[in-house]
Amino acid sequence: MNTPQSRRVCDLVYETFATQGRAPSVAELARLTQSTIESVQDNLDDLAEAHALVLAPDRDAVRMAHPFTAAPMAFVVTPADGHDDRRWWGGCAWDSFGISAALNLEVRIDTACPQCGAAISFVSGPATAPPAELVVRFPRPAALWWDDVVGTCTMIRTFCNRDHAEQWTVDNAPGSGFIADATAVWRLAGPWYGDRLHPDFQPHSREHNQQLLDECGLTGPFWQLP
Ligand SMILES: [Zn+2]
Ligand SMILES: [Zn+2]
Repeated sequence: MNTPQSRRVCDLVYETFATQGRAPSVAELARLTQSTIESVQDNLDDLAEAHALVLAPDRDAVRMAHPFTAAPMAFVVTPADGHDDRRWWGGCAWDSFGISAALNLEVRIDTACPQCGAAISFVSGPATAPPAELVVRFPRPAALWWDDVVGTCTMIRTFCNRDHAEQWTVDNAPGSGFIADATAVWRLAGPWYGDRLHPDFQPHSREHNQQLLDECGLTGPFWQLP
């Protein structure tokens, strides 16, 4: 995000996700920034390189701009206020809390337990913690998240309870992952994503984010950021 133009492109991506629940197209970004498709494409490449967003495999569309995602994933995030008809895909359990934090908005989060298939639906918000029995399973250590960030998000899922997450792990990926209380992930999402839509947002340093993990009790080698 080292040029005003790429900063503008990034802000427009986030703005469009926040207000419309979708990613802007490259042509749209070119029009809005009064520049060319080629130059917007360069900006998007730079932003993806900096992990400010994630491009689709052909690099011609925005796939994710954390906590937002352009394609259906396992979570649906709906404003708790029924008069607000915006709606978002949550890329993962953490991103779903992140959308609420970034928008400073109470939301309903809908997903399904990967182990038993039960629908899980609850209200969460900046001042509303998720139900205490819910847990979130992280598939791989923090150092590996960005090796396949879409795949990582796809696997950061909410389970009914710790038993279901443990049984799922035994059946599908023995000995791997980390099971955290959903309340810890909710607390983490606040400061991790709460400033994302601020006009003067600056990407967090690695040290800053490591500190945020520490403060939520997410410590040890699994949580060591690269
Ligand atoms: Zn379950
Ligand atoms: Zn995610």
